[in-house]
Amino acid sequence: MSTISLHDIRKEFPVESGVEVAVDGVSLDIEDGEFITLVGPSGCGKTTTLRCIAGLERPTSGTIVFDGQDVTEVPAEKRQLAMMFQNIALYPHMTIRDNIAYPLKVDGLPKAERHERAREAAAVMQIEDMLEKKPGDLSGGQRQRAALARTVVQDPIAFLMDEPLSDLDAKLKIEIRREILNVHKRIGRPTIYVTHDQEEALTMSDRIAVMNDGKIEQFGTREDVYYYPENLFVAHFIGNPSINTLEGELTDLSDDSGRVTVHGETIDFSVDRRFGDRTSGDVLVGFRPQSVSLGDRVESPLFELELLLVEPIDDRALARLEGPEGELRALVPARQWLVENEITPVGIDPDGIYLFDAATEELLATSGGASATEIPTSLNAE
Ligand code: ADP
Ligand code: MG
Repeated sequence: MSTISLHDIRKEFPVESGVEVAVDGVSLDIEDGEFITLVGPSGCGKTTTLRCIAGLERPTSGTIVFDGQDVTEVPAEKRQLAMMFQNIALYPHMTIRDNIAYPLKVDGLPKAERHERAREAAAVMQIEDMLEKKPGDLSGGQRQRAALARTVVQDPIAFLMDEPLSDLDAKLKIEIRREILNVHKRIGRPTIYVTHDQEEALTMSDRIAVMNDGKIEQFGTREDVYYYPENLFVAHFIGNPSINTLEGELTDLSDDSGRVTVHGETIDFSVDRRFGDRTSGDVLVGFRPQSVSLGDRVESPLFELELLLVEPIDDRALARLEGPEGELRALVPARQWLVENEITPVGIDPDGIYLFDAATEELLATSGGASATEIPTSLNAE
């Protein structure tokens, strides 16, 4: 069994102006076999958190526990973790076999066993016929598979991956994502995966830790963070194109229904989930671009807005509109006839509403929950 717990991890780096707080009180409990993603914008502390888990950084305070044992002071090489980073450092002069087997050589295993285990790992990654070749003879995808095989061969207690796919093209990304998930399922050990790409997080994870400024804003399943973002930061970060928000005034909110006024227009909605006990006051009304309809598809328009730009995305079109507080985004069927620079009726699906407290930016209620929109992941596309 392998579990990993972080208790209130803080990591400061000395800098000229004083200290840089890279990780600011991160706690996480990762269960055996879970695929966890740390996701957030650049500089939010993902890599530093991962390096603390790996033992490559020593936390300023807090503890790291593997399987009930405090490993905070245990050096990296004794932690039995497999790591994979963006820059796959295969040794160019070594064969793929020796590259894959390298961690076993470091551990002092005899040659025959090293080669057998390298062959097994290569078979899992479908690069068995590449064993005699050098990294330079392989394609980018094959090199990534070799790097993955090198992590598998170690029989680690957990896998740590830091943006391993960011240098790959879109098609290869989807392919290697699937390989990583296959390996994860096969080995059944926890994987902690770092990415700044929210779509990758939604596609791969059992649970997602959304990070911002050294802290975890929310830790939950993809459904939790997409349908029930605990605050405005998570709502904005998860989902692309990102959620729209408008200032509004809440006039009524119960466990069943609510009423909010947005720029003089009233929206009545039924309540899916409610958080806290606020019933009125200043709010931010969030709605995803998928919940906005335009033109002749609108039954009861809320606004008439100028259509600034329409760009096709897959089988849909992203429309940008001149909203009352800046740009509003709508995802509409690509076939819909829309004319740029014209005024168009705009409707918002009352089942697609996320209500946030204007002061604290915390979630107060949602209307449609999981029935409102589908979570966009690259798995949906296949
Ligand atoms: P992420 O991986 O999310 O992009 P990092 O963990 O790399 O973020 O960095 C978090 C913050 O800590 C950033 O502001 C970064 O500049 C700072 N930081 C990271 N490593 C060091 C270091 N060795 N010295 C000083 N500051 C650092
Ligand atoms: Mg990083």
